[in-house]
Amino acid sequence: MSDSAPSIFSRIIAREIPADIVLEDDRVIAIRDIAPKAPVHLLVIPKTDAYRDVTQLAVGDPALLAHVVATAQKLADEHSGGQYRLMFNTGEEAGQTVFHVHAHVLGGGGLEEGNI
Ligand code: 5GP
Repeated sequence: MSDSAPSIFSRIIAREIPADIVLEDDRVIAIRDIAPKAPVHLLVIPKTDAYRDVTQLAVGDPALLAHVVATAQKLADEHSGGQYRLMFNTGEEAGQTVFHVHAHVLGGGGLEEGNI
């Protein structure tokens, strides 16, 4: 990412673009997805733009990946009764549109059919 224009998420982290921020610490920010696919649809985004997808993050900074997962659980505890789907799209054919690694946290009911 560093060799190209800042991602939309870097611009949100820099407060250049508004977002509904639900959690922030030194390593991650969590926002509400602008186009929610479930009653609860949050994104957990590492502040670093060094990793374009979850595979790169797992190799480059496994502790940060673990922190993303722990943050997802914390958010689900607060917003979705502790139950949630954790999703990382990897590659355009899988639906990835922002190449700054982020986790989708989906919850709030309606996911039982596996239709998302
Ligand atoms: P991806 O498709 O890359 O896995 O996920 C990107 C997600 O970011 C999409 O679900 C999309 O709705 C969300 N998104 C894209 N631009 C913005 C934005 O400016 N603000 C917020 N809150 N979400 C965004």
